[in-house]
Amino acid sequence: DPNTIDLREHIRGIPDFPKPGILFYDISTLLRHGPAWRAAMARLAAIVRPHRPDLLAGIESRGFLVAAPLALELGLGFIMLRKPNKLPGLTIGLNYALEYGTDRIEMQADAVQKGQRVVLLDDLLATGGTMAAGINLLRQAGAVVPAAASLIELTFLGGRSRLDVPFEALIAYE
Ligand code: 5GP
Repeated sequence: DPNTIDLREHIRGIPDFPKPGILFYDISTLLRHGPAWRAAMARLAAIVRPHRPDLLAGIESRGFLVAAPLALELGLGFIMLRKPNKLPGLTIGLNYALEYGTDRIEMQADAVQKGQRVVLLDDLLATGGTMAAGINLLRQAGAVVPAAASLIELTFLGGRSRLDVPFEALIAYE
């Protein structure tokens, strides 16, 4: 029964990845379990649908795994927010600060029409820096961003306070 599946049972915490001291939440075990993955997509669809998106966007690369099947489920198109120099044609980008250093995401300049409603998805919200950058980049492209969502939220990092849109996650680790 998809309603009784406990998604937490399908996420593993892997210590010391990618660096010593970091507990990495691995979604591979959720992805490889058909019924649990299907339940996750159904629950995200219920969260995202009320925001009436025209398009969904996902952040490379695990965000693609979330946003693309959800877009298909909702009958919507899908936009890629990618690492630098991956997308062909005219792109726009945004640099954002990491704990150490900076990163950059890009999207195709013509991916959205002005005023289109784009909900942004990723696998996990940690400090919120990636999601906040994605929201701002979508706005730079002319989108309205009514909401953002992810599979997992690390609530102890307070990432959602960096987002100026409603945010929901399926699983929270405190
Ligand atoms: P933030 O910018 O919120 O600090 O970091 C979130 C980004 O880092 C997301 O794109 C996410 O994919 C990745 N990330 C950080 N920690 C984890 C983790 O424990 N598990 C997974 N699956 N992704 C993580």
